[in-house]
Amino acid sequence: MSKSTINAPQGATGGGESQRYPLDAFRFCPRCGHDQLGREQERAIRCGVCGFLFFFNTAAASAAFIFHQDQLILCVRARDPGRDKLDLPGGFQEYDETIEQGLQREIREELNIETGDFSYLCSAPNDYLYAGVLYKVTDVFFTCTARTISTIRPADDVAGYILANPLEVNPEEFAFQSTRQAFQHLLSAHGVRSATSVDGIA
Ligand SMILES: [Zn+2]
Repeated sequence: MSKSTINAPQGATGGGESQRYPLDAFRFCPRCGHDQLGREQERAIRCGVCGFLFFFNTAAASAAFIFHQDQLILCVRARDPGRDKLDLPGGFQEYDETIEQGLQREIREELNIETGDFSYLCSAPNDYLYAGVLYKVTDVFFTCTARTISTIRPADDVAGYILANPLEVNPEEFAFQSTRQAFQHLLSAHGVRSATSVDGIA
């Protein structure tokens, strides 16, 4: 997720922070086992021995700015990347579900509250480095409301939650650059600007 990942030297391999592309995590062909993998376009590998071709397409993820009355419900991440930093409820889409279904499922799993009436806000690309593998992700952001939070109970990959006035949130506390971009969109949509500028956007 860090920008250093993006700026890592081209061709670096071996996982961890040195990764620039998801395919850098692979050395051997998963079909024939030979070490003749080449890059095909920017996001695919092709085996020079058996011709195996695999695309590392972007993963889809969704997240929501959930309002309860005039407060935002923000999560505190329990795990890396971004452990202890702020995050939005949400996560990766499962196979064969809609973005809206995935978002509702993630909010239930992470906070045990019911939401609906998602309004599209914006999307932003994100890099997600997990267990030594870089995942290229397209995050889709929504706004919604939670009428009641009496059932709220952080779980899954959430360590806790906070209720915050949007104007008092420091964007730098968010774990991911894509969330900072979306947060700036949120503030702009509401006709206000954060006191703290966001990288390249404010
Ligand atoms: Zn092969």
